[in-house]
Amino acid sequence: MTEVAFTSIVSLEQPWRDVDDLKWAARHWAARLGVTLRRLTVRPMRHKWASISTVGRLTLDANLLKVPRHLGEFVIVHELVHLLCPKSGHGRVFKAFLSAYLPNWKTWEQELQQHASNTYRAVKSHKYVSSRKLF
Ligand SMILES: [Zn+2]
Repeated sequence: MTEVAFTSIVSLEQPWRDVDDLKWAARHWAARLGVTLRRLTVRPMRHKWASISTVGRLTLDANLLKVPRHLGEFVIVHELVHLLCPKSGHGRVFKAFLSAYLPNWKTWEQELQQHASNTYRAVKSHKYVSSRKLF
């Protein structure tokens, strides 16, 4: 596997401008990972930050617009890495790919967890809160 140091495509401090900005980042990362996105949708999702099908249909939670850019990119890369190793689940190979693209992903996953509990605190028995699952 080629080591690719993570550099955000724009300043990490910069917030998302709008839905198109988020979509642009997803397309950019897909190109960087060499995977094909067949469909890209941004809509409110109640239980997850994102999901992806084996054929490359990516759905992103519109709430990602409220989290810092690097965490949004983390979610995007997480989903796209599933296309690189569809049989790995969240196993060893998956984590190796994720670490290659985002060396800080473990820290960011914890940060995202914070945002999940802030964003979804009001929702009773929400998966984020009840089982602390992010994806
Ligand atoms: Zn996943």
